[in-house]
Amino acid sequence: MLTVRRPNRETPVRIGIVGGGQLALMMGEAARDLPVTLSVLAASEEDPAHRTIPDCLVGAATDPDALAALAARVDVITLDHELVNLEALGDLESRGTPVRPHPAAVRYAADKAHQRQALAAWGLPVPRFRVVTRGNDPELAAFLTALGEPVVVKAATGGYDGRGVFFPDTGAEVRDIVDDLGGVAVVEERLTLLGEAAQIVVRDPADNVVAYPLVSTYQAGGTCVEVDYPARGAGAGASAQAAALAREIAVRIDAVGVLAVELFWTTRGWLVNELALRPHNTGHWTIEGARTSQFANHLRAVAGLPLGPTTPTAPHITMVNVLGGPRATAAPASGPHLGVHDYAKAWRPGRKLGHVTATGAQESPTRVAAWEAARAWGTREEEPWHSSPS
Ligand code: ADP
Repeated sequence: MLTVRRPNRETPVRIGIVGGGQLALMMGEAARDLPVTLSVLAASEEDPAHRTIPDCLVGAATDPDALAALAARVDVITLDHELVNLEALGDLESRGTPVRPHPAAVRYAADKAHQRQALAAWGLPVPRFRVVTRGNDPELAAFLTALGEPVVVKAATGGYDGRGVFFPDTGAEVRDIVDDLGGVAVVEERLTLLGEAAQIVVRDPADNVVAYPLVSTYQAGGTCVEVDYPARGAGAGASAQAAALAREIAVRIDAVGVLAVELFWTTRGWLVNELALRPHNTGHWTIEGARTSQFANHLRAVAGLPLGPTTPTAPHITMVNVLGGPRATAAPASGPHLGVHDYAKAWRPGRKLGHVTATGAQESPTRVAAWEAARAWGTREEEPWHSSPS
């Protein structure tokens, strides 16, 4: 394995981030308290990361020359998103710049077919699925007949926030969607979800792993709108299972940095939905809500610095995403129990513009405080109705 080279322990580790979105912006905030310096490869001059990372190159995350220019300035490379060129990242590694997480690990997040097949082969719980490339594949017909239930069709690559996820009603629709996608698709059983949750762990190159507490997540139209600690209705046993599952996946795929595991809670227990190998929306609450934020621990892992404690700072924490409503409005002020994070993105209806996190002693007032702030900011979404996953 490549190690991060630096002249001595006092020299800051130079980290290059591929992608200049809000995750890079928040890594920039976290870096202020760490012995690291950041450079970023951003797609445009308007990207959020410019606000916190002065050393910004502008170029495409998939462009080998732009990646080489970033690599030339830093000791180690990490990612703000997974829509990257895994081959070009592999080339950087073979030319001596460590990439953390490794490109082979990133593929489990970037390619849903690869993820489902690997986890199933390891005996880890995933929805029943088939990987297909054409609608008239006989295996697909046999799968649909054997299942006898509605399915979900997902593009294997390129989708996010519900884009590339389809809920067809008939077999004919399934076949059409697979053909329209024109590439690799995952067709899987449509589950009755008792709840959705996320488990974040952070692994360093020496195989130390820390786990954040499990959180409940709520989506609208495929986009996460709310995250709550503690996870609603998940007892100690289910929480421990989720953490053990995420730890096992982190080791199996050789993750370095944050691994977020999105989970479905079903009558068959936990099933893994998605993996992300970077700070994740379901971990934004850790900025105010944990002793070490996911952004700080990600940078620590990437730089080979000791990981920080993940203990929550309050009994109840709610994070609400602010998605652009019908018209642009300004972010409200932060308060003692309220963190307001404005990603400085141009307003667009439905766009993730920022998030708010409330911390408190009791569940209901904490949740209300977060939603009041998000509404004052003009978020598009309504507070979701909460059911209990147990
Ligand atoms: P994306 O990669 O765009 O985030 P996901 O695979 O996470 O897409 O799906 C988005 C949402 O769609 C999930 O959070 C869940 O609410 C719903 N969903 C996805 N797969 C299934 C499934 N197999 N059964 C039921 N609901 C699903």
